[in-house]
Formats: sequence, C-alpha cells, structure tokens
Amino acid sequence: MLSDPVTTVKGIGEKFAADLREMGIQTVEDLLYYFPNRYDVFEIRPLSELIHDDKVTIEGRILHEPSLHFYGKKKSRLSFNVEVEGVAVKAVMFNRGFAKKQLNPGDTVTLTGKWDAHRLQITVAQYKKGPANEQTAIQPMYSLKGDVTNYKVKKAVRNAINTCLDDITELLPERYLDSYKLPDRAAAVSTMHFPESRVDLKHARRRFTYEEFLLFQLKMQLLRKIKRESTTGNAQHYEAASLNAFISSFPFSLTQAQQKALNQILADMKSSYRMSRLLQGDVGSGKTAVAEVCLYASITAGKQGALMVPTEILAEQHFQSLNNTFGDKASIVLLTGSVKGKKRKETIQAIENHEADIVVGTHALIQADVQFNDLGFAIVDEQHRFGVEQRRALREKGLHPDVLFMTATPIPRTLAITAFGDMDVSVIDEMPSGRKAIETYWARENTFERILQFIAKRAEQGEQAYVICPLIEESDKLDIQNAVDLYHQLEEFYSGSQRIGLMHGRLTTDEKEDIMRQFANGDVDVLVSTTVVEVGVNVTGATIMVIYDAERFGLSQLHQLRGRVGRGEKQSYCILIADPKGETGKERMRIMTETNNGFELSEQDLKLRGPGDFFGKKQSGLPEFKVADMIHDYRALETARRDAGEMIENGMLDNDPSFQPLQIYLENNTVFHEKLD
Ligand code: ADP
Ligand code: MG
Repeated sequence: MLSDPVTTVKGIGEKFAADLREMGIQTVEDLLYYFPNRYDVFEIRPLSELIHDDKVTIEGRILHEPSLHFYGKKKSRLSFNVEVEGVAVKAVMFNRGFAKKQLNPGDTVTLTGKWDAHRLQITVAQYKKGPANEQTAIQPMYSLKGDVTNYKVKKAVRNAINTCLDDITELLPERYLDSYKLPDRAAAVSTMHFPESRVDLKHARRRFTYEEFLLFQLKMQLLRKIKRESTTGNAQHYEAASLNAFISSFPFSLTQAQQKALNQILADMKSSYRMSRLLQGDVGSGKTAVAEVCLYASITAGKQGALMVPTEILAEQHFQSLNNTFGDKASIVLLTGSVKGKKRKETIQAIENHEADIVVGTHALIQADVQFNDLGFAIVDEQHRFGVEQRRALREKGLHPDVLFMTATPIPRTLAITAFGDMDVSVIDEMPSGRKAIETYWARENTFERILQFIAKRAEQGEQAYVICPLIEESDKLDIQNAVDLYHQLEEFYSGSQRIGLMHGRLTTDEKEDIMRQFANGDVDVLVSTTVVEVGVNVTGATIMVIYDAERFGLSQLHQLRGRVGRGEKQSYCILIADPKGETGKERMRIMTETNNGFELSEQDLKLRGPGDFFGKKQSGLPEFKVADMIHDYRALETARRDAGEMIENGMLDNDPSFQPLQIYLENNTVFHEKLD
C-alpha cells in the first residue's frame, strides 16, 4: 500500500528508513514520488564527435586480455584495448583489479569515463558488460543526505515500483490525458525514475508539470471563489450618472485600458461578493485616475474609502491631488505617523463618525484606535511593500471592504497567476496618448562630468534632474553617506550655478517634504537622493534621471525610478551609470535602453534573476513545484490555469464522475482554512 511505511519495501531496514526520513520520505508513496533531481546520460556517440576531457560513453569489443599493473601501496592499473568503429581505443581503469576476470577478449563492453582525444584513450569510471541499451543510458541521480547512496535509493525505488506501482491511481480524467497525449500516472512515475528514452522522460515530465500546475491552479481558484463568496451583502449601489459626470470633469478621457479596468472593478463593487483585485500598470498609465473614480463610486454609495500608501511623502502627495480632483465632492483626511496629538484625535473622530469620506494614509491608518464608520472601498498602493498582516488588518477595519491592490511594478504574467492566483487581476497596458518616450542611455562612470554638463544645459531651459546615488547593500547609513558625498561633489562642480538638494531616508518627514516641495516648485535644479524617491512622487519639471550603480538594481526597480521623469510635456532622459562585469549585467543595461515597457522588462527581469529574487526574499509567496518550472513551462501553466477555471466554472469537479479522484484529492490536500484571511 502506498501509505505504508517505507520499511515495508524490500531492502529497507530501520537504519535506511531513518536516513530516508531525513530526506522527507516516510511512506512508500513518498519514495515513489521522490523523483531524481537530475539524470546522468550515457549516450553513445561516434568517436569523431567526442570532446576532449568530456565524460563520454563508448561501446566496443575487447581486443586482448587486460593487463594489470600494481604500483604504490595497494594501487593498480588495468589496461586493455577495445575496438570501436574499427579503431583501437585504449581503456584504463584504476584500482579495480577484480575486473580483469570479467573482461575477456571478444566481449562487448560499454565504458563510461573521461575522454582523451589526443591519445584515443578513455579513463573508465563505469563499465558494463554487453552492449549499451537505452535502459542504462539514462541514470537517475537523486539528491541525497547522510549515508544514503544513489545506488541504495535506486534499488529501493525499483523494489517499490515492482510491488506497488499498481496502487498508483490516476488523478486526471482520461480525456485530458488523451487530448494532451500524457502518460498515465503510474507509468509516468516509473518513467521518472527509470526512463527508457529521452522522449519518454520528456512526456513523463510533461505529465507531472501539468498535474502540478493544475492542482495548484485548482487550489488557488477554489480559494479565490471561497474568499469571494464567503462575504455577501457588500454590494455598493453607486450612482452611475454622478460617476459619469465625475469622469467627464477630468481634463482627459480615459484610455481603453483604463475604462476596461474600471468596468471590472465597478462590476465587483456592484456584486455582493468582496473584491480582492490587483491593478497593475506602468508608472503614469493612469491607475490613480481609475482609483479616484472608484473612490467616488463608493462615496455615492454612501460608504467611506481608504487609500493606503507606503510613505508619508506619497500620502501627502495623494492627499493633495485627491483634494484637487474632488474639490467639494468629498471630505478627505490625511492620517500618517506625523499627524499627532489633537489633530490626530480630530482625524480619528472624523473617520469614526463618517465626516470623512476618504482617508489617505500610511500604515498609521490601520492602527487599533482607528475605526471606520462604513468602509466600502480600500486601495493599497504599491502593495508589494506591505506585509500580509497589514493587508489583513486593513480588511478587518471595515465590514468587508472591496480591496484594490495597485502596483506600478508590472508583475510577469507567470508570477501574477501563481503568486497572486487567489486574486483577480486587472491590467492597464496602454499609456495615455501623447506621452513622449523617455530616452535611456547607458554610460560609464568616467563620463560623469559630461553628464553633469548635460544637466546644466537642460537646467538653463528650466528643466530639473534627479541623481540617484550609489547603492550600498543592506546599509542605510552608508547610502546616506554616499548621498552626502555626492551632494558635496556636485556643489563643488557647479559652484553655485545650480541649486542642489539632498534627500535621504534619515531626514525627518518635514525635511523631506520641504525638499520635495522645493523640487516640485522648481526651486531646486538637481536633487541628489537615495532610492527613497522611488515611489510615486510627481514632479512634472523633472526631465533627467541619473542612476548610479545601475547594474545593482533590478530592472523593475530601474524602471520604477525612470518613471519619476517623463511626467510633463518635455522630452525626458534616463542615464544609467554602470560598469557591469558580467554578461548578464551588460544585457540588463541593454534591455533598459531598448524598452520602456514595464511588462516586457519584468518578464526579462524574471528570466535573468529567477522567480525567487523577483519579489525579494521577504515575501515571495511563490509555490514550490517538484517537476514544473514556472518560467520554462509557462505555456503549461497557462493551459492548466484555463482548464482549472473551466472545471470550477462548469461545476465539473462536483458533477462529472471522471473528476472524482481529483475532487477527493483536493478535499484531502487543501489549505483553505489557513489562508482565509
Ligand atoms: P499612475 O497612478 O498609473 O502612475 P496617474 O493616474 O497618476 O498614473 O496618471 C499619471 C498622469 O497622467 C496624471 O497626471 C494624470 O492626470 C494623467 N492621466 C491619467 N489618465 C490619463 C488619460 N487617460 N489621458 C491623459 N492623461 C491621463
Ligand atoms: Mg500613482
């Protein structure tokens, strides 16, 4: 039985079982699904194709009795010639004198080892009597712990397969196997361990890739459905006519992409289910405009809205721009860490008694003493900067607000449908027309003076520049020192001809705000800063973004920084200062100069850095797959996602008997109770 302990498998005693437990293997089933982490392939190739110093496999006929020489202490060397393709090849084997008896003239042998192309000689690591066959050509290599050897695992798996393979039941309905030409589950397990050919192995992997993705997608989508449907009765009856009037008051008309995202959100607001939606769009694509319309919709439905952002400066800027947009249509309050004492009391009061329609703030907004009167709609901007805890706290503030997560870091589709598979996703993939593309250049560090001259020239036209200073990993302090040094360097270079500002994380909120305001008003020409300016702050006069150590940032972060310019009418520039050592670094700089499309960049970023690094270590939220690879098997992921959606939507899991094994599996293996936050 699959659920029996591994000790029921022939050849596994207590000691071996204890080692296997260390490897996470307890039952027969665990053992069967302990797939090799790689394969050694011994494939016979023509002599002419063998590469010097490579590990190769050849097959030939022994030409004469092997000769055995002893040397040193207990060392031996066995050598003989084999005929391969009519050529005599010399084989040497060290310290395996016992093999002499087994290797007789005229025998066919298969030898694997290091190839010396100059001497036509192979140093044998492994040999097998008889001709090579496919069965031995691909050898499973397992990841091991303790005293466990590959051979032992292989043998144990072989025994388990011999006795228990029939106990493996199929999970997937037959018609999916048929239409994707996938092997059945038992056969695929066997092939994963002992593939008879590369093609078989490929199909077995395809099967488990699909299975893993499908199970994962089913879980995520069921979870999403449960989350949505766990709350009913929060339909927001907004006034469509007022909404249209509000939209018409904008000095522009919405892009098609904005309109589409807006419709998706409004449909969620109207429904009695709770919304949990991610809104993605490049910097400047108009997410905030959409969010404003939604906030207004909520107000016309008699509810309150909240906008939570990661920094105080951003909160203040949003507060101002919302006030501009709404005028007397809404009462808006600001709640950040620096709103204190009496002011804070009044603000909290206004939130509690619904004098405030919209609350803008940092995480100060989710503290215990803040009680909303009737929170209908909550927006979390730059959501990846917030921990899960904070999101939950926000959700708990209102009854069951619809929640919109906004991010300007476009998330590759692959990650969006895995890491955020339990959310709905809207994408604004179109820029408002008439925007000038930012010109991006990659410069070496020794051109810095020329860059400073360029800035001076643009400043004569009233334009402004950011200079983002060198990055010191894990050290705020040193980053700040760098910013200060760079500031002095610029002061000296310009000697009064340009007004220079300095911004870093250690300034007080007032100081930061003060500098940002000076910069926004055009009283500062060049702003030297650490990456604290990364998010959101809007300065329309800024046309130049210079980024030091650009190779040390992720593409998405560079793109985010670049998004600080290009907000006005004038042509903007982004200059990346980098001396990357490796090819990847150079490639990244090249990509930055070639595309302004955040989605494209994020895909490239994912390819270059891998999924683990994409969100940073803190909060990857990514599932782990045994066989499947999110990046390489992207198309299978899409297929599985679509199939899972169909199965759930059409009620196939509940009603179609061929889905019963899948249904039972999901019931036994879900984490719904844990994840329902
Ligand atoms: P995001 O939040 O995605 O960075 P915003 O909503 O802040 O983008 O929009 C950036 C700028 O573009 C703002 O000045 C905004 O007024 C303007 N904008 C938004 N939507 C449009 C549109 N459809 N057409 C023209 N300008 C727009
Ligand atoms: Mg914005």
